[in-house]
Amino acid sequence: MAGSGHRWFELAVLVLSSAEWASIMRYVVQAITQSISPPIVVQKYGGSSVADVAGIQRVAARIAETREQGKQVCVVVSAMGSTTDELLGRARAISEAPPRRELDMLLTCGERASMALLSMAVSERGYQAISFTGSQSGILTNDRHSGARIIEVRPVRVQDELERGRVVIVAGFQGVSYKREITTLGRGGSDTTAVALAAALNAEYCEICSDVEGVFSADPRVVGAARLIEAISHDEMLELATHGARVLHSEAVEFARRSGIALYARATAKSGGGTRIDRVGAEAEASIGVTGQTHLVRVCSDSPHRAEQILGVLDRTRVALLCVRHSRGPAGADSIAVWFGLDDVPDWPEVCDELTRVAGQDAIADSFGQVSVVGRGLGEDPRTIIEVSRVAAEITVPIEEIITSPLRVTAFCRAGDVDDLVAALHRRFCQ
Ligand code: ASP
Ligand code: MG
Repeated sequence: MAGSGHRWFELAVLVLSSAEWASIMRYVVQAITQSISPPIVVQKYGGSSVADVAGIQRVAARIAETREQGKQVCVVVSAMGSTTDELLGRARAISEAPPRRELDMLLTCGERASMALLSMAVSERGYQAISFTGSQSGILTNDRHSGARIIEVRPVRVQDELERGRVVIVAGFQGVSYKREITTLGRGGSDTTAVALAAALNAEYCEICSDVEGVFSADPRVVGAARLIEAISHDEMLELATHGARVLHSEAVEFARRSGIALYARATAKSGGGTRIDRVGAEAEASIGVTGQTHLVRVCSDSPHRAEQILGVLDRTRVALLCVRHSRGPAGADSIAVWFGLDDVPDWPEVCDELTRVAGQDAIADSFGQVSVVGRGLGEDPRTIIEVSRVAAEITVPIEEIITSPLRVTAFCRAGDVDDLVAALHRRFCQ
């Protein structure tokens, strides 16, 4: 046996080139260092956690605690407090429809300020720290300004600095496109930076820390009786996130589902607890939560061949759609209704002008919202739809349209009615 093993080795030496040997050795060394280097943890801190110097100090102390547990720590930060809204406000004071590229240049400054300040605060506590922009961290995106999608993460500099024992602080919400342009990932996108990095770094877990305890059965600011959800599946979380729940950016949930990384949403003020986002949820009951969203636009038309033109404009202006209903009747009749949100359409007046040119002013209405009930099997059960309509009628909220997916029932209504409908549907389905 020993003899044949020896011959195998001799044969391998003859057959493999020196470059191949070098790469095998590199792989072996990497495997050994990875198995002995401490686990990596990714922590994301939201804007309200770093709103002022005191907040930044508290976050630095929390990072130090994790460091003391023997972990390597990579941190992702949002812009301080309402910085992003303030910068957006300044841009709007100059231009009604600010160009998306210039907005991205402007808004990314918010996260840059917090990353540098947090790095200083961590250093003051006696830990080595270094801050990186999204581009320096290897967050590569497509070229859709104001709502780019991450296409690849190459965190080589982050890895190098972690290995040197430093705490690495990354500016959330931003990346660089293959055209070398600075891009942003859409409102709330820092969560996605964190989960994408956690996946690329093969982190032990990723924590999304904010001023709320985790994911609730409804926005606790709207529904006093909202409950904290301890565990929720990726699929249900994705339904909540794409339909207005702001605790987690939807793309972050997609990254978590794809990579299987352990993901928690919890309070900055606590070291544990919160919500675990996992392959399976822990809730016994079918309905998980109710979520609402305003700033929705509906474009609809019944004229022949209009549908293609409307979708063409939305494609050119790179608007992400929430829902489309398109039906073709006899003799070329063509009916379409398209719903989308305005959060990541900062130049809406311009997009609206273009849509008006092809569809006419009457086709566009921009003061809508939607309320969604999310939970296992809800959209497959006709009774849920009957109940949603009944509850809305009871509080005299007119419903424009109801759509379903297996995990969700969504009712579109006027923006001003969203909070009332969230509260009423939460009472009916989650209490
Ligand atoms: N600062 C950005 C925003 O306000 C990104 C984030 O906070 O995740 O949307
Ligand atoms: Mg957020």
